[in-house]
Amino acid sequence: MDYPLTLDRILEHARRLHPQKRILTKMPSGEMHSYDYAKLYQRSKKLANVLEKLGVKPGDRVGTLSWNNFQHMEMYYGIPCSGAVCHTLNIRLSPEELAYLIDHAEDQVIFVDGTLLPLMERVAPKVRSVRHYVLFNTPDDIQTKLPGVSFYEDLMADASEDYEWKSIDENMAAGLCYTSGTTGNPKGALYSHRSIFLHTLGVNLSNSLGIRETDVMLPVVPMFHAMAWGLPYGCVMNGADMIMPGPHMQPAALAALISDHRVTIAAGVPTIWGGLYQELKARPRDISSIRALIVGGAAMPRSLIEGFEKDLGVTVLHAWGMTEMSPLGTVSILQSHHTGLSEKEKIDVKSMQGYPVPMVELRIADESGREQSWDGKTMGEIQVRGPWVIRQYYKVENTPDKFTGDGWFRTGDVATINSDGFVNITDRTKDVIKSGGEWISSVALENALMSHPKVLEAAVIAVPDPKWTERPLAVIVAKPDSGNINKEEIVSFLAERFPRFWLPDHVSVIPGIPKTSVGKFDKKVLRKQYSEGSINTID
Ligand code: AMP
Repeated sequence: MDYPLTLDRILEHARRLHPQKRILTKMPSGEMHSYDYAKLYQRSKKLANVLEKLGVKPGDRVGTLSWNNFQHMEMYYGIPCSGAVCHTLNIRLSPEELAYLIDHAEDQVIFVDGTLLPLMERVAPKVRSVRHYVLFNTPDDIQTKLPGVSFYEDLMADASEDYEWKSIDENMAAGLCYTSGTTGNPKGALYSHRSIFLHTLGVNLSNSLGIRETDVMLPVVPMFHAMAWGLPYGCVMNGADMIMPGPHMQPAALAALISDHRVTIAAGVPTIWGGLYQELKARPRDISSIRALIVGGAAMPRSLIEGFEKDLGVTVLHAWGMTEMSPLGTVSILQSHHTGLSEKEKIDVKSMQGYPVPMVELRIADESGREQSWDGKTMGEIQVRGPWVIRQYYKVENTPDKFTGDGWFRTGDVATINSDGFVNITDRTKDVIKSGGEWISSVALENALMSHPKVLEAAVIAVPDPKWTERPLAVIVAKPDSGNINKEEIVSFLAERFPRFWLPDHVSVIPGIPKTSVGKFDKKVLRKQYSEGSINTID
């Protein structure tokens, strides 16, 4: 049967099967807003009519500048199901960066959360394409300098719920997300209905993230970061309840949401879970409802996985992917052959990024493009292909540093793969430290450093060296009350675990590691700070 894999099918399924399942949102005021999938369905149709009234045509890009909330869910469905493209804008970018993205995507309409209005007001004078700004979550007496403003709830109140979905061809574009772009301008990954649909199935497989109807999902990963890892589609497809944190992303607020709403799955980047762990150690709460803490976006430090698993009894599910992959690539879930492993060995497995989910094919290759063996030792750049991997960046010509020319996407991540197919990311190609021609894994060193009792955060960067070309510099953040730290205690701690040439020549202690717009360690900034002489080393 010719059955288009379009997102309206997911919404129609949820309306029939799970109309009473809930989406709860912590509003900017702190109040909990509650509604159900029946309402999501009805309001997504209203939104489709609103878009039509605003003159949005199939294929047009429509921007969203918002937190994780129920309105954003409506946009995740209403925009693509009306034939337009939902372009999620990263609220942590600068006005200049946002203006670049909006103009590059030629967004026609932008939906703006009232809490982000001051940011949008700084962006608006710099952009050309936008015809309408639609505000939501604003106080009644809001004043704004934005041109062409209307109010979401006014438009929704006037709109009919009758609407025939326009997403008829599965190859129509549905979503657009730009990479966080650590070098050069961010690049767009355009997702089709088909790629999102298949990705949703991939996310939902039981050997993958395996969302169930009985789950209560807390997506902390922002909806502007790689489509919130596909969770807004995965949850609706299965009828899981969703708890949306809105702007309340602080550890104490997240801990309260988990315990108050009996969250079963929570998903976020390691820095979020690092904060939550500290919070729960300081002020314990009942989080026994959690059956999986999904972590991705950066390597979860081994010590943090161990902390959650051993101290808090929380099962950590480590996953790897990237915006260009919709984003899911691999998951680390213990398999039957791991049953006899010791607790320590099991944590070792979970510290890896895991095996590719079905439909994602991957291989590793050396610098000349030669495929490397899956022996758990040989490092190579990961190349991927699959139905939800981009074939091209949006409006950018393919270049050989990103596309191999024979159908594989070059991820820029360096990894080993063991004979069981478990991937272990050792670096980004641009972060790897090349000392005397040998590769040193900054990720492995960071993991070890973060298991030191006095270290809260650690990043290892390459610094120029006249003899070895590059040498590692360990930049650490001390735990509160850890007293004095000297270089010797840090290096000797690493010496037990790594070859001598891996050991950092220098150690720096700084108050905080700079973070990117999606909460990852920003090594580009660290390298710059080092080259400007603003990072001092200790003896
Ligand atoms: P983004 O497109 O912003 O999601 O960034 C994707 C990049 O984040 C990947 O290419 C990796 O470098 C990194 N990344 C994502 N997940 C992990 C993980 N579990 N471990 C290590 N690095 C990760």
